[in-house]
Amino acid sequence: MIIVLKPHPSPELIQHVVDRIRELGFTPHLSQGVSRTIIGVIGDEEKLQVQPLQAIEGVEQVVPILKPYKLASREFHAEDSQFEIKGIKVGRGHLLMIAGPCAIESEPILVEIAEKVKEAGANLLRGGAFKPRTSPYSFQGLGEDGLKILKATGERFAMPVVTEVMDPRQIDLVVKYADMIQIGARNMQNFDLLKEVGRTRLPILLKRGLAATVKDLLMSAEYILSQGNRRVILCERGVKSFEDSTRNMLDLSIVPNVKGMSHLPIIVDPSHATGRPDLIPAMARASVAAGADGVHIEVHSCPEKALSDGPQALLPNQYAALMDDLRALAGVMGQKIDSCEGVTV
Ligand code: PEP
Ligand code: MN
Repeated sequence: MIIVLKPHPSPELIQHVVDRIRELGFTPHLSQGVSRTIIGVIGDEEKLQVQPLQAIEGVEQVVPILKPYKLASREFHAEDSQFEIKGIKVGRGHLLMIAGPCAIESEPILVEIAEKVKEAGANLLRGGAFKPRTSPYSFQGLGEDGLKILKATGERFAMPVVTEVMDPRQIDLVVKYADMIQIGARNMQNFDLLKEVGRTRLPILLKRGLAATVKDLLMSAEYILSQGNRRVILCERGVKSFEDSTRNMLDLSIVPNVKGMSHLPIIVDPSHATGRPDLIPAMARASVAAGADGVHIEVHSCPEKALSDGPQALLPNQYAALMDDLRALAGVMGQKIDSCEGVTV
């Protein structure tokens, strides 16, 4: 349920309500908007008595959240959320432009790609060090060596970096090197992993599972939020379908659909959704037009030599041409793409 306080509550009142919720054995989640202060009470609502909380002077209303996702819901947080990743804003009119290779392969290759995507206007560098491959015989990623290369390259170009974790045992290592943690599609319902990344203070890029519904995606976000980590960015990357001419089926309607249900930013990854460089630009443009909060694209300087996902990578010049289109579209949509000028490394 949510406790809506009367306008301009004193810090003492907020503390009092928070203390009462804790005394009752629940976890309070404070949300201070411009016009309203709301305190979420998350736990088994059947066991919570509404009347005593309603009686506190300064409490305007106690409202149940009927959706199974609570902290992720619009009811808990009416305004769109906006997060900052080392100075780069995402959400509420700011687009996150993530680009980079599928996997970190070597420092020279990553440097070459990073330089070009940054020049094109990308504001976050991606690269996997732990790769979820279908075959155990395929390249599995460089592990910590890859993370070191990613961090050094991000610092060299003043770009925040995102990389995937697949196992709770990798988290302590990854937080030393990454600015954002990616949870891949195959792990969207690895609930122990979600809880563990929820305990970190890094923003989380949560990719939609291969056959996950919108509700499943929001329930997974809830796992992270319930641990106290507020910075969750959702990512549509296509779902399995009968269609076999594309790698997956891009569900663009999820963008306005999620926006009706949740305050969390949602970005689109047309690379994994289509698996086809000839389709990626059109789907990236459609994503921005649909109101997505960003686009996630794999770029490689030599796709034919890439160690993973080469066939779907855009060349740097293709990415630059696409970014010109996306900038123009962002202008039409009244949105902004933060540059890396303000990044603090
Ligand atoms: C990736 O981003 O390289 C990746 C493996 O993505 P997904 O989990 O969406 O398949
Ligand atoms: Mn990939």
